Amino acid sequence: MFSDFGLGADAGSESPFGALAVDRASTIRSIDKIGHADVVVIGGGIHGATFARIAALNGLKTVLLERADYASGTSSRSSKMAHGGLRYLEMLDFAQVYEGIKAREDLFVTAPHLVKPQEFLLPVYADSPPRWKLGFGLWLYDQMSRVPGRRQSWISARQLGPNHFSAGHSGFRGAFRYFDGLMRDTRIVIENIIAARQEGALCLNYAAVNSISSLNFGKVELGWTDTLTQTSHEITTGIVVNCAGPWVAQVGRITPSELASSIRFSQGSHLLFDKKWEGPALFLPLAEKNRYYWVWPHPAGTLVGTTEREVSALPDDPQPTANEIEEILARLERDVPHSGLSRSNLHYAFAGIRTLPLRKASAGSVAQLSRRHIWAYGSGTLHLLGGKFTTASWTALEGLRQVFKLAHLSHEPVSLKGRLLPGAALYAESVERFDREAQAAGVSESLRAGAIARMGALVRFLLADKSFLEPLGGRLLRGEVEFARHVEQAETLEDIMRRRVELEYAPDHGLSAVGEISRLLSVQLGAAKASEQEQRYRERLATLSQLLQGRGASLQSEESAVG
Ligand SMILES: Cc1cc2nc3c(=O)[nH]c(=O)nc-3n(C[C@H](O)[C@H](O)[C@H](O)COP(=O)(O)OP(=O)(O)OC[C@H]3O[C@@H](n4cnc5c(N)ncnc54)[C@H](O)[C@@H]3O)c2cc1C
Repeated sequence: MFSDFGLGADAGSESPFGALAVDRASTIRSIDKIGHADVVVIGGGIHGATFARIAALNGLKTVLLERADYASGTSSRSSKMAHGGLRYLEMLDFAQVYEGIKAREDLFVTAPHLVKPQEFLLPVYADSPPRWKLGFGLWLYDQMSRVPGRRQSWISARQLGPNHFSAGHSGFRGAFRYFDGLMRDTRIVIENIIAARQEGALCLNYAAVNSISSLNFGKVELGWTDTLTQTSHEITTGIVVNCAGPWVAQVGRITPSELASSIRFSQGSHLLFDKKWEGPALFLPLAEKNRYYWVWPHPAGTLVGTTEREVSALPDDPQPTANEIEEILARLERDVPHSGLSRSNLHYAFAGIRTLPLRKASAGSVAQLSRRHIWAYGSGTLHLLGGKFTTASWTALEGLRQVFKLAHLSHEPVSLKGRLLPGAALYAESVERFDREAQAAGVSESLRAGAIARMGALVRFLLADKSFLEPLGGRLLRGEVEFARHVEQAETLEDIMRRRVELEYAPDHGLSAVGEISRLLSVQLGAAKASEQEQRYRERLATLSQLLQGRGASLQSEESAVG
């Protein structure tokens, strides 16, 4: 099963990005040339990216194929919470909470530029679950992390003074203060892809797996298509690791009846408001038992979510529905009426789909289903059902143990614990040098801060060429776009705006820079295609804006809701 993995797919040392640069044509040639991989990972969300990274770290010849862009599925649509999941304590899911807390603490170390501790307040009302019960849950939460500076505490209504909670409710008693983590989910996926490539994995986006067939002698053959050129390719492997998220039962020739009946799906939507959130984030109880929602700071304003409704259809780009938007606005109006969050400053929304594995025939609300993942093996393919973003490195390690077991290897795989993401390595010296040299070159403080927040230590590559420090539309640096194209494998304008520089989330959606970014992209796409993508970007956001203002129809049918 194991073999040397000497094939590189980098774009050569002439690139200003050195060995980090990658070239699509040579990656495809390398995948075709190896012909047989130890493991082929399907899906470039957090689980696929993390699995490819840990598999390559453990010496496996690894190929990852993603049918659209990295993180374009659920992994860019999460609540962006690096957490154990307080509410899973109520479901008595202690293992999930424990792993989440440990994984959160590891992310604080391995991705400190992308994952930060955040203070939360959980209000308690006369009709809330008893205060002792909430306090006990938070005490347990603390026991699992044991970080002295981040202990929960009780603040009475009187100590809290004027606040967001008392206005909407009578019977406000006070609030628990506790800590969790907030993360930039998409950037974590992208950096895991870079790290997987550094370990030797071949990773390709816009590469859809269409067929999986078992051959003799334990080999599996996959058919895949380069969706940018519509060319077909084949590769054989010892094992397929299917991390296709909600689409896990739709890949290739997989027995859908078995897998499909093992999962249910729920959509969750978030709203983003053009208002800087000051003070602690809020964890607010909903009238429905065991349900909560959050209000918390986001680099582009204030984020509020999430909804939870069962769905049966799985669109490639799920969209919030008009009903979900109304639901969140109504909750805010009821619970925090003076927070300044209303339709008048609502500027963006997104939706994602949870994959909820069933342990037994589960009826009832999807909100009550465990978020714990299941690894299921059959016919040369290991399928991942469900999972949490925060615990992806634990889940990947568990999956790799199964791969080792299937290969009759008795040793324990090397884990990712404590291994820095590329933007965390050499952080202080890289950021200090970038800041000093970019300032000397006349780059404004906000542009420097924006680049550092997105790229961490990788900003040092923006010093490789003078032109990289040119501002684009006053919103970002030209080098960020070049880095996205040549290192982070961005192929389209949407890849850049939504999942690399994340300007799509900004109140103006980065529209002042989009023309210049499109011109840079035209070098690889051609002028006509680049301008078509720019037009589509503008139109899509105009349609979303109509929907947010309550004037447009849902971009997605409400009918996909089951309950
Ligand atoms: C609303 C919501 C809020 C959440 N909040 C949190 C949170 O705060 N914290 C947390 O820890 N977790 C959270 N989660 C869970 C977390 O987001 C998911 O567990 C995680 O993102 C799933 O990652 P994944 O890699 O399994 O799937 P995905 O990110 O969906 O990736 C699957 C990938 O497979 C690709 N694919 C599909 N078919 C094929 C094919 N045929 N060939 C090649 N590629 C294919 C898709 O394009 C996709 O990119 C939330 C989830 C939702 C929906």
